Amino acid sequence: MKPIAENEWVTGQITLDINGVPIDMSVTVPSIPVKPQRMLPIFQQMTNSFVEMGVTSAAFEGRQVSCTKGCGACCSQPVPVAEIEAYQLAELVENLPEPRRSEIKGRFEESFAHFAEIGWFDRLSECAGGTKEEQEAVVLDYFRENISCPFLVEGACSIHKDRPLACREYLVSSPAENCSNPTAESIDMIKPPVKPSKTLLNVGQKRQITGVNFIPLVMSLRWAQSNEEKFDEKTGEQWLSEFFQKLTGKEIPGAET
Ligand code: SF4
Repeated sequence: MKPIAENEWVTGQITLDINGVPIDMSVTVPSIPVKPQRMLPIFQQMTNSFVEMGVTSAAFEGRQVSCTKGCGACCSQPVPVAEIEAYQLAELVENLPEPRRSEIKGRFEESFAHFAEIGWFDRLSECAGGTKEEQEAVVLDYFRENISCPFLVEGACSIHKDRPLACREYLVSSPAENCSNPTAESIDMIKPPVKPSKTLLNVGQKRQITGVNFIPLVMSLRWAQSNEEKFDEKTGEQWLSEFFQKLTGKEIPGAET
């Protein structure tokens, strides 16, 4: 991607009302039209801020984050990624030096082949119109296969800075060992006040993704390879407006969606 010149950025103030509490944010975005992948670091930063708010508010209730580096138990889940993130992950892997690139691609292929063979992707599509319990059962089926994310290395995320929004939002206060056999009763999630990962699924979206409206991370490289990228180009302000319009469900000037 072509670098953005210093004079092609603009900074603005945003005030969000979260559960009646005004939150001020200063955001710097490209003033020129760009593809939405350019906005991803900004959406990642905002997600980090929302997660931090969730952690602070949990601490007020006496609940502390129990996740530690080297655990990685949650990295055997089917991480939902947005179209934008699928292309970002594919590009990130393409830019890895060898032999790392081939190793990661190999892990993606092996994991994908395994879940295809057991029919998990079909079950995922079928459960789209099902109940919450049916969908949770499909997620648990994936988890029970005990296949770690291709990016997990020695219990730690090897793309920590670039990890998907959904990974950022996953924190617990329950004992770490409970995550190896999660149930609704044994896991105490620390939730951010809003979930940008869900919003991102619909930002800039060009394709209707069958069934569940997300791409499982393990499928993302294949998906990006077989679906040509066709995103529009918009200014950073327009992308932000679209993002916040979808996050809040309110009309926001400048959002051309
Ligand atoms: S991207 Fe990183 S944090 Fe997310 S599931 Fe994979 S290893 Fe875990």
